[in-house]
Amino acid sequence: MSTLNDGAWQRRWQPLLQQWVLISARSAARPWSGAVSKATTTPAPEHDPYCYLCPRVTRANGVQNPNYSGAFAFDNDFPSLSMQAPDTHNTDPLLGVAPAKGYCRVLCWSERHDATLASLDPAELKGVVQLWRDEYARLAAQPGIGNVLIFENKGTEIGVSNLHPHGQIYATDFVTDTATRMRSAQANWALENAGSSLLQSLLSHKHTQAACIIEKDEYFSVMVPFAARFAYESWIVPNRHVSSLSEMHKAELDSLAILYQRQVRRYDLLFNRVAPNVSLLHNVPTDNHQDNVHWCFHLAFHPPLRDPEKLKYLAGFESAANNIVNPVRPEDAAARMREIDVSTWC
Ligand SMILES: [Zn+2]
Repeated sequence: MSTLNDGAWQRRWQPLLQQWVLISARSAARPWSGAVSKATTTPAPEHDPYCYLCPRVTRANGVQNPNYSGAFAFDNDFPSLSMQAPDTHNTDPLLGVAPAKGYCRVLCWSERHDATLASLDPAELKGVVQLWRDEYARLAAQPGIGNVLIFENKGTEIGVSNLHPHGQIYATDFVTDTATRMRSAQANWALENAGSSLLQSLLSHKHTQAACIIEKDEYFSVMVPFAARFAYESWIVPNRHVSSLSEMHKAELDSLAILYQRQVRRYDLLFNRVAPNVSLLHNVPTDNHQDNVHWCFHLAFHPPLRDPEKLKYLAGFESAANNIVNPVRPEDAAARMREIDVSTWC
């Protein structure tokens, strides 16, 4: 592609979010006197009696966790949303108010406090993906729920308060801002491109296939998006247009579990530590909107590190402009991750 250069001072279009990203590989060479992030070297215990996610521990609200093993879900004791939210509305165009209704769930990946998704065995891993699917389907079927976002915040670097391996779900009575943008982008793409799928078009694009794929199997591809917003951002995209975990068959779910874990291990090897990360499952909204048919599932990783010791902050320009500056050229990130031998993870 003649429009590509070495990644210096280039704007790239992120079609799913409908926004420009700045690729500025030369900014990575700046002298660094900012925050340095060191990996924790103290090993975690297998069971922590003060951890409110560990089996048998009594949580702050007085409820005792069962003696669970494997993946386990429960209601968040300190939810950001509630179906009991008071029905307060204000239609004042300057002071709009609506109730924040929904469900917040906590998903433990394992009974072991010292586990991560990278360390689970295949059966445990499939249990996690099955839990994702069951929780998504159950919450999607609740009356009034418009969006079910499953995600994992991993590592103290991004403010995680509890290091027990776990993810969360926010099931909201509204479609989130990001999901609204993604849905609109995918519907418009289909309208303007004879019904084709935006994500499938991006995945099958000659440039993606040549330079942005990290690995793939029969059912999914792991790729760096052309307009990655974060250094080493990656996506797991199905090789067919499928909207959610609920529509995937067993072989696809097994493949997703394996590739997800391989990518988590790849990040550990890339950053030479248990790598902090944010991972997000972008399932189709659950509000029966006519444009949902154009939605294609993907799983996104937004790693906060730009190298093993440097955290990327979304500061002045990005806070103000919402055009994120990525200091690593996406094709270089893909090449670097492609070269990692995941079998060396331990
Ligand atoms: Zn724990």
